[in-house]
Amino acid sequence: MHATREELDTQARTVLATLKPTLTPKERLTIPPQPMPSRDPVERRKSMAEVAEGYTPAQAQLEANRCLQCKNAPCIAGCPVHIDIPGFLAKAAQGDFKGALGVIQQSSLLPAICGRVCPQEVQCQAPCTVGKSLKSLEKAVSIGRVERFVADLARSENSVSVPDCAPPTGKRVAVVGSGPASVSVAADLRRWGHDVTILEAFHKPGGVLVYGIPEFRLPKAIVAQEIDNLKAMGVQIQTNFLVGRTRKLKDLIDKDGYDAVFIGSGAGLPKFMHIDGENLVGVFSANEYLTRCNLMKAYDADRSATPIYQSQRVAVLGGGNVAMDAARSALRLDAQEVSIIYRRSEQEMPARREEVEHAKEEGVRFLTLHNAQRILGDEKGRVKNVELLAYELGAPDASGRRSPVPITGSESLLEVDTVIVAIGNDSNPLLRQTTPELEVNKNGNFVVDDEGRTSLDRVWAGGDIVLGAATVILAMGQGRAAAASIHRRLSTEA
Ligand code: FAD
Ligand code: SF4
Ligand code: SF4
Repeated sequence: MHATREELDTQARTVLATLKPTLTPKERLTIPPQPMPSRDPVERRKSMAEVAEGYTPAQAQLEANRCLQCKNAPCIAGCPVHIDIPGFLAKAAQGDFKGALGVIQQSSLLPAICGRVCPQEVQCQAPCTVGKSLKSLEKAVSIGRVERFVADLARSENSVSVPDCAPPTGKRVAVVGSGPASVSVAADLRRWGHDVTILEAFHKPGGVLVYGIPEFRLPKAIVAQEIDNLKAMGVQIQTNFLVGRTRKLKDLIDKDGYDAVFIGSGAGLPKFMHIDGENLVGVFSANEYLTRCNLMKAYDADRSATPIYQSQRVAVLGGGNVAMDAARSALRLDAQEVSIIYRRSEQEMPARREEVEHAKEEGVRFLTLHNAQRILGDEKGRVKNVELLAYELGAPDASGRRSPVPITGSESLLEVDTVIVAIGNDSNPLLRQTTPELEVNKNGNFVVDDEGRTSLDRVWAGGDIVLGAATVILAMGQGRAAAASIHRRLSTEA
């Protein structure tokens, strides 16, 4: 039974009204965990509107009251940017949501985004004492949901202020790319008075936040507001600027007079299966599919000219968040049947639990312990079937997960007209190809020290181009560390 936001709010208000002004830890542990209100699965399947509706004020306050204010606060170590979690929850528990946001903003620049997309269950919420005491990770304090609430409230009240910037230092920094790593670098350096220019290859800034993560998980208006804040601070943004082609990386320093360069070019090179039939019409990388859908707004056929393949039956290969995003987007683009093909069991799936549950509620079919062996086409070269092989689980492999073992003779055919390959991304290769002086590791990621310095003088890097495909908050954390290092260096120069 799907409880509405109003119903959840009424329940929360009722409990909140019974709370004593001071609570013992034992009493806090009896407060019911607050579920995230979400839109009805049948109705949302055909709409791009955000699925998770966000806590009500009563839910946020009640959930914050579940925090035990642990002295050692293990949650803080689980957050890559070390937000003072008990600090902001203590304020939210008193209904001081503005104060709570102030605490978060001391460490994080993008709380409305991180509160939505951080994999909290493996970060801040994993070590939470409440989850451990109640012997269920799902019952840990929902830190991310409260964080999202306080950030959204400030946005809805137009009370997010643009940070003040220090007087001009005369130093110029070029920031390559405009994903979360670059946004963080740009914001910090601008605040410290440097002149910052973002150079972005696409026609719109925001990186994966704009072209990858779908609207129904992260509304683009939120990302646009962060970008507008950067512009209001005086950060310049040049789009359609591909560093390595429009201008060589080294020319930015040697000829254009930038004092430092930060590279946040991400991991946007899709991996393929290298199986027969991957070149048939109707096979897409998840990157291309999602970019058409999100950045080019193909779902909005009345107002966008972007063509998108009209699919009826779709197979998505992979079991991560990108696979879930592609499958759920395909449903919203009118596919009748969408199947996730994943060679291990659901337990080993790297996708967030919440995303798997949402995909299931919306009707995505899960063919676990299966993998695509080849893709078959019709006489016109269009996808017709995908040949699957069944798997069973063997001994754990190097990743610690049980390895998938193919079952001989278990081939079967699945009728599909579209195949979306979502098995991961490699780092973008252009800059390492056009700047051979930059040291890279065996995966093609830039090698940096703990301050984000690359092997090239005055060039820093961070985010997915260093970490491989990782997370928003890790990219942001690396961006902030690099910004501090750039600032130190520029401050020592006349
Ligand atoms: P990116 O966000 O990749 O941005 C890089 C930018 O650099 C892009 O805009 C690109 O166009 C630009 N660029 C590249 N090369 C050049 C060049 N030569 N010149 C100029 N510009 C260039 N993480 C989470 O934490 N939670 C999630 O739920 C989640 N879901 C995801 C879903 C999808 C579909 C994808 C693809 C990723 C997801 N991630 C998620 C991962 C997360 O988005 C990334 O880890 C994060 O965006 C990396 O940030 P970044 O700043 O390093 O680079
Ligand atoms: Fe948790 Fe992410 Fe917020 Fe850190 S930024 S507290 S990891 S939701
Ligand atoms: Fe609160 Fe959990 Fe952090 Fe303890 S670990 S301070 S209960 S959020």
